[in-house]
Amino acid sequence: MTGTSFKIAIIGSGPSGCFAAQFLRKAWKDAEITIFEALPVPYGLVRYGVAPDHQGSKSVTAQFARLFEREGVRFAGNVTIGEDLTFEDLAAAFDIIVPATGLGCDRRLPVEAHPDCPVIGAGALIRALNGHPDMALPAHADGLPRPLGARVAVVGNGNVAMDVVRLLAKPLDQFGGSDIDDTRLAALRRRGVARIDVFGRSPIGAAKFDLSMFKEILGLANVRVSQSGTAACPPCDALEALSAAEARSANGALSIHFHFGAQPIALLHGPHGPLLSVETGDGIASHEVDSVITALGFHDSRPSGHPCSAQSWSGAQVFPVGWLQNGGKGTIAANRKSAKETAGEIAAAAKDRHLVPAAPGFAAVADRIADTLVDYEGWCRIDAHERATCAPGRPRLKLTDRAEMLAVARALPRDADGTDRPHAAH
Ligand SMILES: Cc1cc2nc3c(=O)[nH]c(=O)nc-3n(C[C@H](O)[C@H](O)[C@H](O)COP(=O)(O)OP(=O)(O)OC[C@H]3O[C@@H](n4cnc5c(N)ncnc54)[C@H](O)[C@@H]3O)c2cc1C
Repeated sequence: MTGTSFKIAIIGSGPSGCFAAQFLRKAWKDAEITIFEALPVPYGLVRYGVAPDHQGSKSVTAQFARLFEREGVRFAGNVTIGEDLTFEDLAAAFDIIVPATGLGCDRRLPVEAHPDCPVIGAGALIRALNGHPDMALPAHADGLPRPLGARVAVVGNGNVAMDVVRLLAKPLDQFGGSDIDDTRLAALRRRGVARIDVFGRSPIGAAKFDLSMFKEILGLANVRVSQSGTAACPPCDALEALSAAEARSANGALSIHFHFGAQPIALLHGPHGPLLSVETGDGIASHEVDSVITALGFHDSRPSGHPCSAQSWSGAQVFPVGWLQNGGKGTIAANRKSAKETAGEIAAAAKDRHLVPAAPGFAAVADRIADTLVDYEGWCRIDAHERATCAPGRPRLKLTDRAEMLAVARALPRDADGTDRPHAAH
């Protein structure tokens, strides 16, 4: 069976997948474009990465929604490529494949595990606080996250590290307007975070955070700010802001100490508990800690050769995009640029007739995923449910249980008490 229009499969509905769909739709009005997504909900890290108290950055989803509502792009949610369909299934059914699977795993700090001091990836922590259904944080037997304790070390000085510091430092009653998972946030902070040490390898002038993100922390009324490692640094905007905050914040109840030019090297057993050993220009210092959170970038969660690993997906029809392609660097806007370039490459391949429309498209795989699929209407039901059930002033209360998400997506009957009836789980 051959076709006259391209059949395009995009794998992943994060910003890079959605931007790729936008550019490919502009290039071919008649192409059949399907975005496959492992979760029952779209938008990747816009929903589960961007901090819940930065709703403005999440508003990009409104333009992505237009793809499904007006541009004829199909959302095929709850379909994991490599599990529900193999890459080979997709390669046979589609002319063009655009892996946009992002990088799902935090890069780890190369220190030995410590039984009394969890080392948690910032991405995992923020996904949990964003209500991700597959939360992977240290937990108690009841499933609630284990509290971080009073002394938290954050390793890294990019924007993700700043998100973590802010989410742990900001008073709990200041999250109005956010869609943070209040239960998880309260559980993580149950023992009361009293001190946050932030370790960045770079000098302050080369720190990767945006000044606005840094200033947001410095401006918190409840924090007392201090710093080290800046004595030899030339003046810069961040140092000026930090010095001003240091001078005015002496009475804050929660202490945040920024260590610049500081590299954690080991997690040791000290006489009073875990000690983080940190190398600086002045030698090695030790810091008592209860938890360590690493914000050191991301990598693919699956080893090459795993059926779900995009590293294994190759061929003349395959065009990776976004974080998957660039090693996990850049903002949402950077993914737009990446998607534009990739769409340009695809158009060039079509022009040179390296690609010709010949594949059957979505119809060839539809039966195989019929029981699994959450389509765009299903997502809209989840969206409406989340918006209807949140507290006043909040944008949504995210469903965090996959089975419940699927029940709502499929509009399964609910019992009189409002709970979902048992249903076929996927
Ligand atoms: C904590 C955090 C905060 C951030 N905050 C900001 C911010 O405020 N502003 C900003 O501009 N940028 C921010 N970013 C960066 C931004 O989120 C990324 O640039 C962007 O999300 C990367 O897009 P992507 O589409 O490549 O990957 P992702 O957003 O990760 O999307 C990948 C999608 O692919 C799906 N997928 C994976 N494997 C499969 C499979 N086998 N089958 C089907 N689907 C699959 C995933 O479920 C996911 O939905 C933040 C990032 C993080 C981690």
